[in-house]
Amino acid sequence: MKSSLRHSFRAPRNSAWPGGKHAVLVVEDQRALSEMLSSMIQTTWQCTVFTAATLAEARELLATRSHEIFAAVCDVNLPDAPYGEVIDLVAAQHIPAIALTGTITSDIRGMMTQGLIVDYVLKKGLPSFEYAVQWIGRLIRNSGLKVLVADDSPSSLEIIRRMLSMQGLSVQVAHNGREALAALNAQPDIKLALVDYNMPLVDGFEFVAEARRIMGKERLAIIGISGEDHSDISARFLKHGANDFISKPYSFEEMTCRVNQNLEMLELVEHLHELAFVDPLTSLYNRRYFFEQGKARHKLAHEAQAPVVVAMLDIDHFKSINDRYGHAHGDIVIRHVASCMTKHFPDALVARIGGEEFALFSDNLPLAALRERLDAFRELLPRHSSDEMPAGMPISISIGVHGGHDGDLNALLQRADKRLYEAKANGRNRLEG
Ligand code: GH3
Ligand code: MG
Ligand code: MG
Repeated sequence: MKSSLRHSFRAPRNSAWPGGKHAVLVVEDQRALSEMLSSMIQTTWQCTVFTAATLAEARELLATRSHEIFAAVCDVNLPDAPYGEVIDLVAAQHIPAIALTGTITSDIRGMMTQGLIVDYVLKKGLPSFEYAVQWIGRLIRNSGLKVLVADDSPSSLEIIRRMLSMQGLSVQVAHNGREALAALNAQPDIKLALVDYNMPLVDGFEFVAEARRIMGKERLAIIGISGEDHSDISARFLKHGANDFISKPYSFEEMTCRVNQNLEMLELVEHLHELAFVDPLTSLYNRRYFFEQGKARHKLAHEAQAPVVVAMLDIDHFKSINDRYGHAHGDIVIRHVASCMTKHFPDALVARIGGEEFALFSDNLPLAALRERLDAFRELLPRHSSDEMPAGMPISISIGVHGGHDGDLNALLQRADKRLYEAKANGRNRLEG
């Protein structure tokens, strides 16, 4: 269970706090423990932490600050509240809570089943507290994340909807597989689908098969659910393309673990995707992505006889910028040019393909139109600077552009590169092609 949450993620940007709330409430009467947990939460997620040592203090805090709190970690045994009363207090404010407990009792597990807490943590050493800290990260990332639940039983649907909503997820419901597919088509940003096997119109297997036709496992995780007593249902779900399976009746604990584990897997894949395809200096796509995507888009455009235009852009005398202002300022210039390119060409595939070299691929504009836009960009660039750049720093770029269907992407880029070479030879700060 612990491993499913242990993964390091960055703290959110200001806009990404759940519901705009940025604080966590820690209710714990052992001072050393409270301080340690608060500091771990604060340093890991850069959020505000409010602490209370008793139920009375927690009540007082919530009276004035509950609108700032998106999660709570609460000791179930407090001097003035030995039976988990603080959990009811926090749950009444719809704040997802993680219970801290000395022993696992049926009461604690009951709190989970009733949806009063999202999980519990045994007060037993650092790994347990790290687990609670990682849960806070999960709750932050759950904010705005869409999941789909499909079940023809209204009561099953409601139970799972409540559980997932409590964890901060945005839950869409469907009463059969057909509705579920419609939801997926309408909202392709759904990340996880929990689907019952036995449903009218389109059953769980049919849903998975159709969903997989449009979305791979790296974009959508699917957990099959079934109450039927056939041992082959889980295998068939998986063979149709589900990521996971759970049988009814399930415990909230197991469901929570499986949901979290599947969301983590998607996040890891996304992270790997970013490492493989995004340039860390500029956040533009890198050379690898440009060629993979460019080749695929070139093929489609070629078949559709759509106009294909490629351009190579290279910063002029960049070596002397580095020599004169230092490598760090050189980096700032590269970032600046990249950011200007993203703003000027939101409709094209733009990448950093080398040190101070950029490439552009367009399949929706004729050569003349793109040439005009590229030349306007070239003219504007020296007039725009970023706050980080020293005043008067000279920046210009040379551009080579080529359009047409004469050859594959490599051939087109070679032609654009040749034009770029000419632009350099003809004096720089110009466009050729
Ligand atoms: P030209 O006008 O002909 O393009 O000349 P140039 O000086 O811009 O081109 P050249 O290819 O001679 O030099 C490019 C320099 O860019 C050399 C390399 O040290 C530097 N460079 C490559 N990658 C980076 C980077 O990530 N950051 C910084 N600051 N410099 C880089
Ligand atoms: Mg250069
Ligand atoms: Mg160069």
